[in-house]
Amino acid sequence: MAEVTSQPVVRVEHLSKHFGEGAARVDALGDIDMDVFPGQVVGLMGPSGSGKTTLLHCIACILEPSSGRVTLDGELVYEDRWLKADLRRLRLDKIGFIFQYPNLLPFLDGTDNVAVVLDLAGYSSATSRKRAVELLEYLEVGHRKHAMPRQLSGGEAQRVAIARALANKPRIILADEPTAPLDSVRARIVMDLLRRIAVDQQAAIIVVTHDEMILDRFDHIFRLRDGRLEKDTAPTTAALSEAAARPPSVI
Ligand code: ADP
Ligand code: MG
Repeated sequence: MAEVTSQPVVRVEHLSKHFGEGAARVDALGDIDMDVFPGQVVGLMGPSGSGKTTLLHCIACILEPSSGRVTLDGELVYEDRWLKADLRRLRLDKIGFIFQYPNLLPFLDGTDNVAVVLDLAGYSSATSRKRAVELLEYLEVGHRKHAMPRQLSGGEAQRVAIARALANKPRIILADEPTAPLDSVRARIVMDLLRRIAVDQQAAIIVVTHDEMILDRFDHIFRLRDGRLEKDTAPTTAALSEAAARPPSVI
């Protein structure tokens, strides 16, 4: 396996998160340390209720941690409080989020479902649409660019959703059970796609999954139990060397 020398894209230190207070308090995460490096695709596994979604949302700046530090792309963004005033901007600039179900806007076609993110980021309509079509082609659903979400298969819809998550060239891509609605062949295709994106964009990708069939596609697996990370999760060797060997692409 290639030695990892670059700085992590995602660094989580001593992160804790609880919901509620007093008798109603739920300690969802305790003392989490996690580093994810450029080009890595890591798995986040654990039983239902172990804190996977909470951790992903804390990294995505959707949920406020209770304590600890979060550093994204070299920038300290949370230390006992948010250090950035504009979290929406931070999410737009740095983070792509892929949900379990594609969550496409039903009244927009494939192109516009991707372009809408770029419109929000302030690009002109023509630029947004051009890039949206390029992304759909990169994900091999360019031929479906005019299709409405209800006309897409599950795999096609998930690719459009991935294109949308990639639209802003995020360094960090977070996916909450993205392969759950897919059969095992399509699940592997999506995982291979995420691997390619990680390498091409030197992005860090965290994938929540229950799917034992795709474990060999991860560079490293973090396992959560009752809100704590198990310590000795051995790295898998999947593709760090692959990551080092390939030059970044324009996408
Ligand atoms: P997972 O994604 O691994 O199934 P979650 O991160 O959704 O787990 O939940 C972790 C724990 O935090 C669970 O005990 C859950 O009930 C609790 N939890 C999650 N969100 C909230 C919330 N908004 N309010 C109170 N408790 C919550
Ligand atoms: Mg969850």
